[in-house]
Amino acid sequence: MKAAVLYGDYDLRYEEFPEPEIQPGCVKIQVKACGICGSDIPRITAGGAHYYPIVLGHEFSGIITETASDVHRLSVGDHVAAVPLIPCMKCRDCEQGHYSQCKHYTFIGSRIQGGFGEYVVLPERNAVRIDPDIPFEQGALFEPSTVALHGLRLTGFQGGKAVAILGGGTIGLFALQWARILGAGKIVVFGRDKKHLSVAKRLGADEVISTLDDGYLDQALAMTDNIGYDYVFEAAGAAATIQLSFDLVCNHGSVCMIGTPTKSIEFTRRQWELLNRKEFHLTGSWMSGSAPFPGDEWALTAQCFADGRLKYDPEIFYRQIPIQNTMEIVEALRERSRIKGRILLLHENASVR
Ligand SMILES: [Zn+2]
Ligand SMILES: [Zn+2]
Repeated sequence: MKAAVLYGDYDLRYEEFPEPEIQPGCVKIQVKACGICGSDIPRITAGGAHYYPIVLGHEFSGIITETASDVHRLSVGDHVAAVPLIPCMKCRDCEQGHYSQCKHYTFIGSRIQGGFGEYVVLPERNAVRIDPDIPFEQGALFEPSTVALHGLRLTGFQGGKAVAILGGGTIGLFALQWARILGAGKIVVFGRDKKHLSVAKRLGADEVISTLDDGYLDQALAMTDNIGYDYVFEAAGAAATIQLSFDLVCNHGSVCMIGTPTKSIEFTRRQWELLNRKEFHLTGSWMSGSAPFPGDEWALTAQCFADGRLKYDPEIFYRQIPIQNTMEIVEALRERSRIKGRILLLHENASVR
């Protein structure tokens, strides 16, 4: 098969790669579209991969081309999205349904071969059937949607309340959509990128606030009659937004950190003391999934993609690039320090449904 193989920083080559063989309990997926996640960027640009050469990619969709004889739930021809986490299912965390905390897991596209390859073999339970009318491009957004919903669920999200979403990237835009679907009151999305904020508007944000504007904090608090936000979801992983979440949350509200910081963060004493004074709830969120595996995050995404409640806006992607154009992919990643947005890779057969 063909695959975009990473040999080192910015060294991506489209070449022949051994096709994975079907295993008991597994399905073989012909990958159609695969997103480049924020977590893949350091793997491609900053020595962050577990080994080389490696075939990355954990956000992908495709068609099942082969099933093991003991597979009964899925069939050849099914359109599916991949669940990249393969937990051990035996440890204490797995027994409690906390799959993200499993220490004996493996992960597609970082520890084992992923969706930058034309074919991937996965355990049956790691493939979620998607409606065949859903474009594969949208199917590649399945995993980011589950990550956002996982964060909302960890706060015990209730409708009718004011919600702040910090960051207008893919996760932020899905957190916004889930907040809307789950009955949020006012939703305000904070970001720096004009295009992201206009997509957020289209996807149902009541207000958008540019954090580049002077006085945006006062403006944001005024939108809640200076009470603050019942829920704050941090989906940028930047120091400024992580600190901002402490300012925005209301007394006894909830802050959930979904974004992963890339640098150290310093809090002033006054900033940290907000946690004491407001007595707000602070939680982190890691990946997605719940019991029974892979969990409601996946089931609800499949349902809301199919019935149209989760909307697909092609502008979520900053670029869609044929996977064989490795030079173009590498260029886009270099650019990415200036231009934010998700890059989607399309396999050569992506248009064949
Ligand atoms: Zn990801
Ligand atoms: Zn485990």
